[in-house]
Amino acid sequence: MPWTMTGKAVPEDSRLPVSQCGDTAPAAGHNQERMAGRTDMKASTRLHERNELKINIESMVRCGGSCIGCILSADERVHGSVWPQETFDRVRPFVVAFLRHHLRSEIDFTEISVAFGQGDHLLLSPEEAERIVRWTASLMPGRVNGFITASVIGRRERVARSVEAWHSAMVRHSQSLNVDLVFDPVKVGIERFAETYAANIACVRDAFGDFDLNINVGPDTPRAASPEQIQAFVLENGFSRLTLNLVPLPAKGGAFAERWSEILSWLSRTMKIWRAEYGYDINFCPTIAPYIEGLDDRLIEAGMPEVVSFVEERLAREIYIDGEGYVSHTQAGFGDVPLGRRMGFPTRLTVDVPEDEVPKHVATSARALGARIAAMFLSTRACAGCGYQAVCPKIGTIALANSLRGYLPNEGCPAGVKPLLDDIQAFMKAGHDLTCPCYRLPQVHVPRGFDPALLPHAKQVQGGSGPLSLEGFRS
Ligand code: SF4
Repeated sequence: MPWTMTGKAVPEDSRLPVSQCGDTAPAAGHNQERMAGRTDMKASTRLHERNELKINIESMVRCGGSCIGCILSADERVHGSVWPQETFDRVRPFVVAFLRHHLRSEIDFTEISVAFGQGDHLLLSPEEAERIVRWTASLMPGRVNGFITASVIGRRERVARSVEAWHSAMVRHSQSLNVDLVFDPVKVGIERFAETYAANIACVRDAFGDFDLNINVGPDTPRAASPEQIQAFVLENGFSRLTLNLVPLPAKGGAFAERWSEILSWLSRTMKIWRAEYGYDINFCPTIAPYIEGLDDRLIEAGMPEVVSFVEERLAREIYIDGEGYVSHTQAGFGDVPLGRRMGFPTRLTVDVPEDEVPKHVATSARALGARIAAMFLSTRACAGCGYQAVCPKIGTIALANSLRGYLPNEGCPAGVKPLLDDIQAFMKAGHDLTCPCYRLPQVHVPRGFDPALLPHAKQVQGGSGPLSLEGFRS
């Protein structure tokens, strides 16, 4: 039963059945090693029970890639900025005050992430790499889980030199960084490029250990590689995380809308061939599934005000700082969705507010965005009659609606995601536990030279796992 304008709703279905992780097909390749540890995972590691504090830093936007699904413009990728030391100095007091406030709260945060994006950080000079690693290490030694985005496009020697520069900085400051490696299936289809690409990815893996394989899903993705090819690539190479980012910029809404049903089918198929025992995660499954599973939970009974207060509280924990010092928020859904100026959500908050007022300003900003989200889902006719009205406000759907507005049929779901949410729900009803504890499993591979015991998350063996296989793409 949908939400009403008074915020009351009646569950339209009983609680969905949730089975244990487990199906009959075997886990493949290196992932068997990770699966051995899965049985020891406690239920408390389920993603929706984890408390993550997340700071996204738009530290550089240059990139040699050309993913259509990327949130950077072509001009930014070539001429975009890289943060100088002054910007890091300017931002630091805000970040420290933000962390201090949350760590003094009642919430026991299981993960504190500082993610540097959006360009290819392997394009940075050794000095610039050193700056980022040193800055991260200075925030909360031994506690911060750092991430950098990388695309590994370019000559082998240059990528190898850069990887070594990052690795030495990490060792020097005892600060490991995880790599969000953006993988472009289109590039693998180009024969002259594929070998170098594979060598570059293997090089990153050797130095950084495991990494998160990201695909910025665009209108060209479904025709570049099938879900089966992507899965074969993941399994053959023992990747533990597949992150599919579906974040169309407002300027690209038309291009996405033209192939929208193809994109949704591709995502749906990628989910449907996944099995828990394969030992890898697809980001949106454990992120969105718990909200779908909880369609009849207390939030339904309490109404939209409860949903909004949940949304505001989460927004206040996930901030995004752009190159000009503006602070906005993110929501995790089909990727980490930045709800800031880039995606058409203006913000007035900057990092220049007095340190003791940081919590107040972040809370105000989160409340304003929460109100905007609530207004959209209450005032849009299709949402008012939809069973996902308690789900979509939590998963960044507003950004999809914002970018696709005017390109999708008027009467339907404004964000175009309802068919995919239906598929997720049906997949769960068929007995697949998409909320099972398989997200952020301990990594098998840790950065070269790092003691797993000293890293924020327990890890098992050193180094990467040798050459990269592209066999899946040749089948
Ligand atoms: S955005 Fe679509 S799926 Fe979400 S509540 Fe609105 S109509 Fe339903």
